[in-house]
Amino acid sequence: MASYAFSGELQNSFQQWFAEGLHRKLSFNGYQSADPSQENIRLVLNFAEPASPRPYRRKAQATYVVSIVETDEMPDQVLKAGYPLLIRSLSNLLIYLVRTPESLDTYFVTLEQGYYHVPYQIGREDAYFEQIFQRLEPLASSNLIINNDFHPDLPEDLWEGDPVTEQIRQAGRKIEAMNLWPAPFPIQDILPSEDFRHVKRLYGIGGLSYGNLSARREDSQFWMSGSGVNKGDLKTIGQDILLIKEFDSNRNTMLLSVPPQIQPRRVSVDAIEHWMIYTEHPQVGAIVHIHAWMEGIPSTQVNYPCGTVELAKTVAELVRESDNPSRAIIGLKNHGLTITGHDLDDIFERIDGRIIPQVPMT
Ligand SMILES: [Zn+2]
Repeated sequence: MASYAFSGELQNSFQQWFAEGLHRKLSFNGYQSADPSQENIRLVLNFAEPASPRPYRRKAQATYVVSIVETDEMPDQVLKAGYPLLIRSLSNLLIYLVRTPESLDTYFVTLEQGYYHVPYQIGREDAYFEQIFQRLEPLASSNLIINNDFHPDLPEDLWEGDPVTEQIRQAGRKIEAMNLWPAPFPIQDILPSEDFRHVKRLYGIGGLSYGNLSARREDSQFWMSGSGVNKGDLKTIGQDILLIKEFDSNRNTMLLSVPPQIQPRRVSVDAIEHWMIYTEHPQVGAIVHIHAWMEGIPSTQVNYPCGTVELAKTVAELVRESDNPSRAIIGLKNHGLTITGHDLDDIFERIDGRIIPQVPMT
């Protein structure tokens, strides 16, 4: 049974109303209310103040933290006002409530640097909380692949990489030149250094650039970019680029082969998705994931978070259903694109001139 908890102080009767509305929906849908000090809570709803958004410190990495911040002033730019609050409260998602005497506007601000609006009509309280619950449900119900097992058994002739890692390096630079590894908010400037270290340790947060890329080495083994590394400058094998050799489904663990002398970094959280696609489609030689969009593509309907089994399965399913799985372009709702190709060049040829940098948010 998935559990949820509230943390932080409720400041007024409006926040009380909001908390009770969420509580009703969650418990009606079978979620168990828990104390925030408990371990292994799936979803924490953290009420925070805009001036100093206090983070909830996770006790388990698989805990999703949704911070709720209320303000009485409509910001010029929701993302610009909300994103620093999302990061400073060390959350996976921010619910930004803009309450004026006339209206209530509810914005969801995501780590992928997008946001969307949930309308509220006076007297339609139940419909409002139902919508919010629908947005939170994928967070509360999905499962993260968070474990990396590093085996220092990479053959010596691969310690400096191979022709495939060279292609990944070049592709990373190319996407950098296209300005598609977005990092418009300098996270390290927003956060005190202690919080920044915490963010970096946290699964799913803290990448200085988003997106990832991979290419097959042989059989089901593939090279993939590391988590939170600078993808415009992929250098070190075992840190910037890692070799995935296996997935252990019993332990939800990616097995990685690294040079023996290296302090390895985690592989990108989407490794499980790439693994599913490579093992199912031998014709796929490369995969690129960017936070951008293209017209006229199939898309996932539910906004599962990065690195979850559910997102990986949904994307793998759309790849399977596409006309040519080895040359598929799949949209991830409110998030970005996953593109397969025979190799990285094949991907660039097909997206050239068609990329829309801003992901549509719905
Ligand atoms: Zn992503």
